[in-house]
Amino acid sequence: MDEHVAFLNEQVDRHHAWFSKSLPMIASENVISPMAREMLVSDFGDRYAEGLPHERYYQGNAFVDEVEDRVVALAKQIFRVRHMDPRLISGTVANMAVYFALLEPGDIMTSVALSHGAHISSAKFGAAGLRGVNNVNYPFDVDRMNIDVDETAKLIRLVKPKVAAFGQSVFLFPTPLRELHDAFQDAGCRVWYDGAHVMGLIAGGTFQDPLHEGADVLTGSTHKTLPGPQHGILLSDSEDEKFLKRLQRAVFPGVVSNHHLHAMAALGVTLAEFLAFGRDYAAQIVRNAKALAQALHERGIKVLAEKHGFTESHALALDVAAFGGGAKVATDLEKARIITNKNLLPWDTSPVRPSGIRLGTQELTRLGMKEAQMREVADLFARILVKGEAVEAIATEVAAMRTEFNTVHYCFTKDAEAHRRWRLA
Ligand SMILES: *Cc1c(COP(=O)(O)O)cnc(C)c1O
Repeated sequence: MDEHVAFLNEQVDRHHAWFSKSLPMIASENVISPMAREMLVSDFGDRYAEGLPHERYYQGNAFVDEVEDRVVALAKQIFRVRHMDPRLISGTVANMAVYFALLEPGDIMTSVALSHGAHISSAKFGAAGLRGVNNVNYPFDVDRMNIDVDETAKLIRLVKPKVAAFGQSVFLFPTPLRELHDAFQDAGCRVWYDGAHVMGLIAGGTFQDPLHEGADVLTGSTHKTLPGPQHGILLSDSEDEKFLKRLQRAVFPGVVSNHHLHAMAALGVTLAEFLAFGRDYAAQIVRNAKALAQALHERGIKVLAEKHGFTESHALALDVAAFGGGAKVATDLEKARIITNKNLLPWDTSPVRPSGIRLGTQELTRLGMKEAQMREVADLFARILVKGEAVEAIATEVAAMRTEFNTVHYCFTKDAEAHRRWRLA
């Protein structure tokens, strides 16, 4: 075999061997099902289909059009909305479409601050800044790890943004959209909810339902709590045809040309499986997050928002300053085969030396873990952080634990062999 190809194959094999014996706890990741993965290697990944189904610019799209129609229909059914665009190739690209559709350079947008958990696409040095949007951040209640609803209503009435944006990457509690309804009316703004992290929870009927609580548009990734391919999604329940047209034109020809048809097909399979298993999956993700938070807390590890039940989503934020800070702890955990990331906490000033780590339970849940396993995971954390046990020994235990959780759950494929063939777990 060619030396370069052999090298590349070896790295991917090693990655699979390592990940399949580790605890994947990054809150923005997930693993797709065997049937969805099959779509990713189909010929759909080699084609173009610019425009809308049945009105394409290229020939050869007859079956692509059928798939796209079905993906849209499934999403509309699951999210109970009138409009869905499956052509966004990532969550950030979905956000860019909103920036181009609803905001012009110099316009004011209100949003959550980065240090309070927002995503870089809403920051000055991210897509918002590139569009020339003037960003004003909401007052935040650190105790509740949520925006301060009264002060936020005042701010929105004062600055009258063109768009009030919500949603976070450290997203522990639902946004009080209903409580802000009158402020939105007074300001005359559009309401945009970035649900990248919580898309699967929204689809599964937990957390909140932003498009039925006052949001005009919902964007997100399809690979975080929604366990699909790396792709994006844009949804709206608006009846305003002009508004929907603006969003649609911002997608194409605005920010997307080819829309990664293989990923779109895989999203279709994900949505079909979600229709069958999504409510159970979403509910278990949140139960697991609460169980993990409680167990970590009982073992002497500081979980944020203690007085408010720690979390209502898949995610937890830990303050690990007492154990050497986020960077050190995330590195130590990785040596023990526990994959997490360091994260800014609201009071941090340095993004390279944050005092927190962020955890998510969506992927462990997908592998079949329940509350009992969350307590075992919390034990491992305590042995590493609190007791200072050697990470090498714990790594061996993690690998052993994973041998019982090595298939993808909440999907149609029950045959373990198929999971192994795709090296999913
Ligand atoms: C992950 C995330 C995004 C970006 O999604 P990609 O699919 O990675 O481009 C956007 N917004 C929020 C809040 C996110 O957490």
